[in-house]
Amino acid sequence: MTRRDIPNGQDGNGSGFRLPTTGRLTWLEISPPRVVANYRRAQRAVGSGTAIFPVVKADGYGLGAIPISRALMEAGAPGLCVGLVEEGAALRAAGIDLPLVLFSGLRPGVESAILELDLWPFLYDFPSARRLHEAALAVGRVVSCFIKVDTGMGRLGFSADTLSETLPALQALSALRPLGLVSHLACGDEGEGGQATRRQVARMAAILQQSATWFPEARAHSLANSAGILYHPASHWDWVRPGIMLYGASPAYPQCRAEEEGLVSVVRWVSHILQIRAVPAGTPLGYGHAFVTERNSRIAQIPVGYGDGYLRCLSHRGHMLIRGRKAPVVGRVCMDLTMLDVTDIPEAEVGGRVTLLGEEEGAAISIEEMACWMETIPYEVICLLGRRLPRYAVDF
Ligand SMILES: *Cc1c(COP(=O)(O)O)cnc(C)c1O
Repeated sequence: MTRRDIPNGQDGNGSGFRLPTTGRLTWLEISPPRVVANYRRAQRAVGSGTAIFPVVKADGYGLGAIPISRALMEAGAPGLCVGLVEEGAALRAAGIDLPLVLFSGLRPGVESAILELDLWPFLYDFPSARRLHEAALAVGRVVSCFIKVDTGMGRLGFSADTLSETLPALQALSALRPLGLVSHLACGDEGEGGQATRRQVARMAAILQQSATWFPEARAHSLANSAGILYHPASHWDWVRPGIMLYGASPAYPQCRAEEEGLVSVVRWVSHILQIRAVPAGTPLGYGHAFVTERNSRIAQIPVGYGDGYLRCLSHRGHMLIRGRKAPVVGRVCMDLTMLDVTDIPEAEVGGRVTLLGEEEGAAISIEEMACWMETIPYEVICLLGRRLPRYAVDF
């Protein structure tokens, strides 16, 4: 695909992607249909008795929440999950009228926005639950919400040990209508038979019994993220919250990889060669002269850098694809530029395409592989993709 073939965003094609202000040689291609394919994979894992609310927080894990949400809505997703009120507002402004669950965004001052945008927040403490109740009462509204309980993650939520006091106190807040209890897995990636997950599932079952006394109508309970969906059927309950698996990476990387889970990659990061320079052996390259050529070399200059989320830790570690072959990054990654050694790739030419992530001519660089070079997890690789990269919705 050439630059001209890229459908150009600006909502001419309803994609919701913004156009670059200048024609950059570096951009992201994201395939909403492939996200939908991964959504279908989640459907196969949970069966028809469990609803799937895809997680599109952090701008769809960095890939563009709006076009992805539209595609998921068209594919029949019954609702979506966001992290912040602002993220919910962006989806509403784009015309997404599905139920929107709000994870951790219930903070002082957002009560009226939650009502206006019709977000369904996770309640995690009393002061914020009370504020929300009062704001709703003042305008004669009832807020759908969920009671977030810590069953072992040890992070946000009401303590599972004091629910006998928490539940009746919440019940007294008449303008709140809890739809169910929710909790989050700490070690879902440890695979089937994992002790910590089994304990959390048992704890969840116990607190649901307890809550039925106070909230008999609340029956939409949820525990599972991607790892729960793929590895722990007992964690599925009424609705699940897949994130990373929709974006084409295994939640259990490095033990497991996307293709083993039946997941497809959804993103391509492409750039083009800006210049190629022939340099003799012994030439120091880039900041700090951190790399010195050992042979007569051809060095390609690529217009991408840590200003785009191609992090400096990829210096001397990362690779990019040129005509299906891997060229190593040499020297330090800069803000706008990165150098590749293309001595062994004679086809490399100025203006030629370079693939940083995704498939090209039968080869591929996965999010997982890049995470390995960066010594991090796939989540971070895509969440860090730079905001200045143009993002195009394509069907590849
Ligand atoms: C981010 C998040 C998820 C999705 O997790 P994945 O591991 O990406 O599937 C689910 N639930 C909550 C509460 C989250 O914050």
